[in-house]
Amino acid sequence: CGIVGVVGNDNTTKILLNGLEKLEYRGYDSAGIYVNNENNKDYLVKEVGKISQLEKKVGPEIQGEMGIGHTRWATHGQPTVDNAHPHFSADNRFYLVHNGVLTNYADLKAKYLSDVDFKSQTDTEVAVQLVDYLVTKENMDTEAAFRKALTMIEGSYAFAMVDKEQPDRIYVAKNKSPLLIGLADGFNVICSDAMAMLDSTHKFLEIHDGEVVILKKDSVEISTIAGEKVTRDPYTVELDA
Ligand code: GLU
Repeated sequence: CGIVGVVGNDNTTKILLNGLEKLEYRGYDSAGIYVNNENNKDYLVKEVGKISQLEKKVGPEIQGEMGIGHTRWATHGQPTVDNAHPHFSADNRFYLVHNGVLTNYADLKAKYLSDVDFKSQTDTEVAVQLVDYLVTKENMDTEAAFRKALTMIEGSYAFAMVDKEQPDRIYVAKNKSPLLIGLADGFNVICSDAMAMLDSTHKFLEIHDGEVVILKKDSVEISTIAGEKVTRDPYTVELDA
């Protein structure tokens, strides 16, 4: 029921876990993080129950410069470790967190993904397997595949997706579920609620339904799903963390 993300900070793991704690008030049954480091190592940790239980599973080796995190409120599939987010593609290349409900996931699964070995019972996993399908079977690049998938998916979503081969960026989009960009000093973040990231920044940028954001350490590229560039000014949140 909450999303966080960081790109360009050595303390990514800490910022993600702290952000997830700040989102606990929204309610959740499980949580998880994906962290990627410069040495091309990455980590996925998921757990049922409280963030404190997830934290116990996160060893000191789990460090990186970018990552995404999620608190789940199960809608499709029981609250289990496998159903917790981030979800990932069969080739362990794409990682994705999702808030919301995908209404046509069963159709997409039947039509395009009948060969895929699904690891969860969630609607969400269809989204990440679909991007992988478009990249590997339709030869699209990741950005084109992400945009294409958004035109195929119906329902509500806030998505943050990572391509392990492009660890300098997070792909972001939303439809009827909240998600914000936070502009920090030397790095950037995403969050469902500014509250989650007030320790990192007070400067935020809205994302609108129907937009794609490619977030890097030092840039925020906003465009429509069709690819038209969007410009938007940040605003300041004056609350204390
Ligand atoms: N529908 C997704 C699931 O059941 C996401 C739920 C959420 O928003 O936390 O895993």
